[in-house]
Amino acid sequence: MAVRDYIRERFFPHIWCPGCGHGTVMGCMIRAIENLGIKKNDIVLVSGIGCSSRICGYLDFHTLHTLHGRALAFATGVKLSRPELTLIVPMGDGDAVAIGGNHFIHAARRNIDVTAIIMNNSVYGMTGGQYSPLTGYGNFSTTSPYGNIDQSFDTVKLALGAGASFVARTTTYHVTSMINILEKAIAHKGFSVVEILTQCPVYFGRKNEFAGAVDMLKYYRTHTTPIGSKMKKKYPDLIERGIFVQEERPEYCTEYDKIIKKANEER
Ligand code: SF4
Repeated sequence: MAVRDYIRERFFPHIWCPGCGHGTVMGCMIRAIENLGIKKNDIVLVSGIGCSSRICGYLDFHTLHTLHGRALAFATGVKLSRPELTLIVPMGDGDAVAIGGNHFIHAARRNIDVTAIIMNNSVYGMTGGQYSPLTGYGNFSTTSPYGNIDQSFDTVKLALGAGASFVARTTTYHVTSMINILEKAIAHKGFSVVEILTQCPVYFGRKNEFAGAVDMLKYYRTHTTPIGSKMKKKYPDLIERGIFVQEERPEYCTEYDKIIKKANEER
């Protein structure tokens, strides 16, 4: 199918600002799904609230635009009732690790077969550029005009610690690798986390002296490195990207089916 076959053109033009990275993520999601050959009718996209969550409106799958921070809870319910469907949850900083943080760690712990795509732009874009749990120490935002004094979460370490069985990081600069990683994440049986560093040139970029979206993309190129590269040893501050873990572990819906079957047999 062509890319436009996946898009609800009636909702265009989109709401994203010029240079926003979310459109790149959406384009890569479409290509990953097309490469996997999954039928549109077999995909459920669930989102919470925020700029990134608008992906749910623009893509022509089954879509649920739910409450802020509750996307993973809704996705868990859908997956448990229809385990044969492919569940994908595009999230921003808030849905993933602030208001939605509790759902995130427990979905990871259960290893439910859902793909969480976390668009980390280090700021709450839709509500005016406030700092988030992914805003780095010392970064500026509308609510940290003198520099952020909170330490940020490392999403990858959080997901690994909580038990996600597939964890990866990429950026909007590395589109080929993003498509590849998304394919693997969606195909993985278990809870998959893909953190994507994506630019919000309007709020995070302007406040932190980036000249624009291209400048931010260059930053992703120069400040990230493949996992385990020699560059990381030489420059420890570089952010690693790639697949950190990809393991087969008992999946939640499969385990649930087993106990239901056992209970029925023992009746
Ligand atoms: Fe993208 Fe930021 Fe604009 Fe939101 S505010 S659409 S994240 S550039």
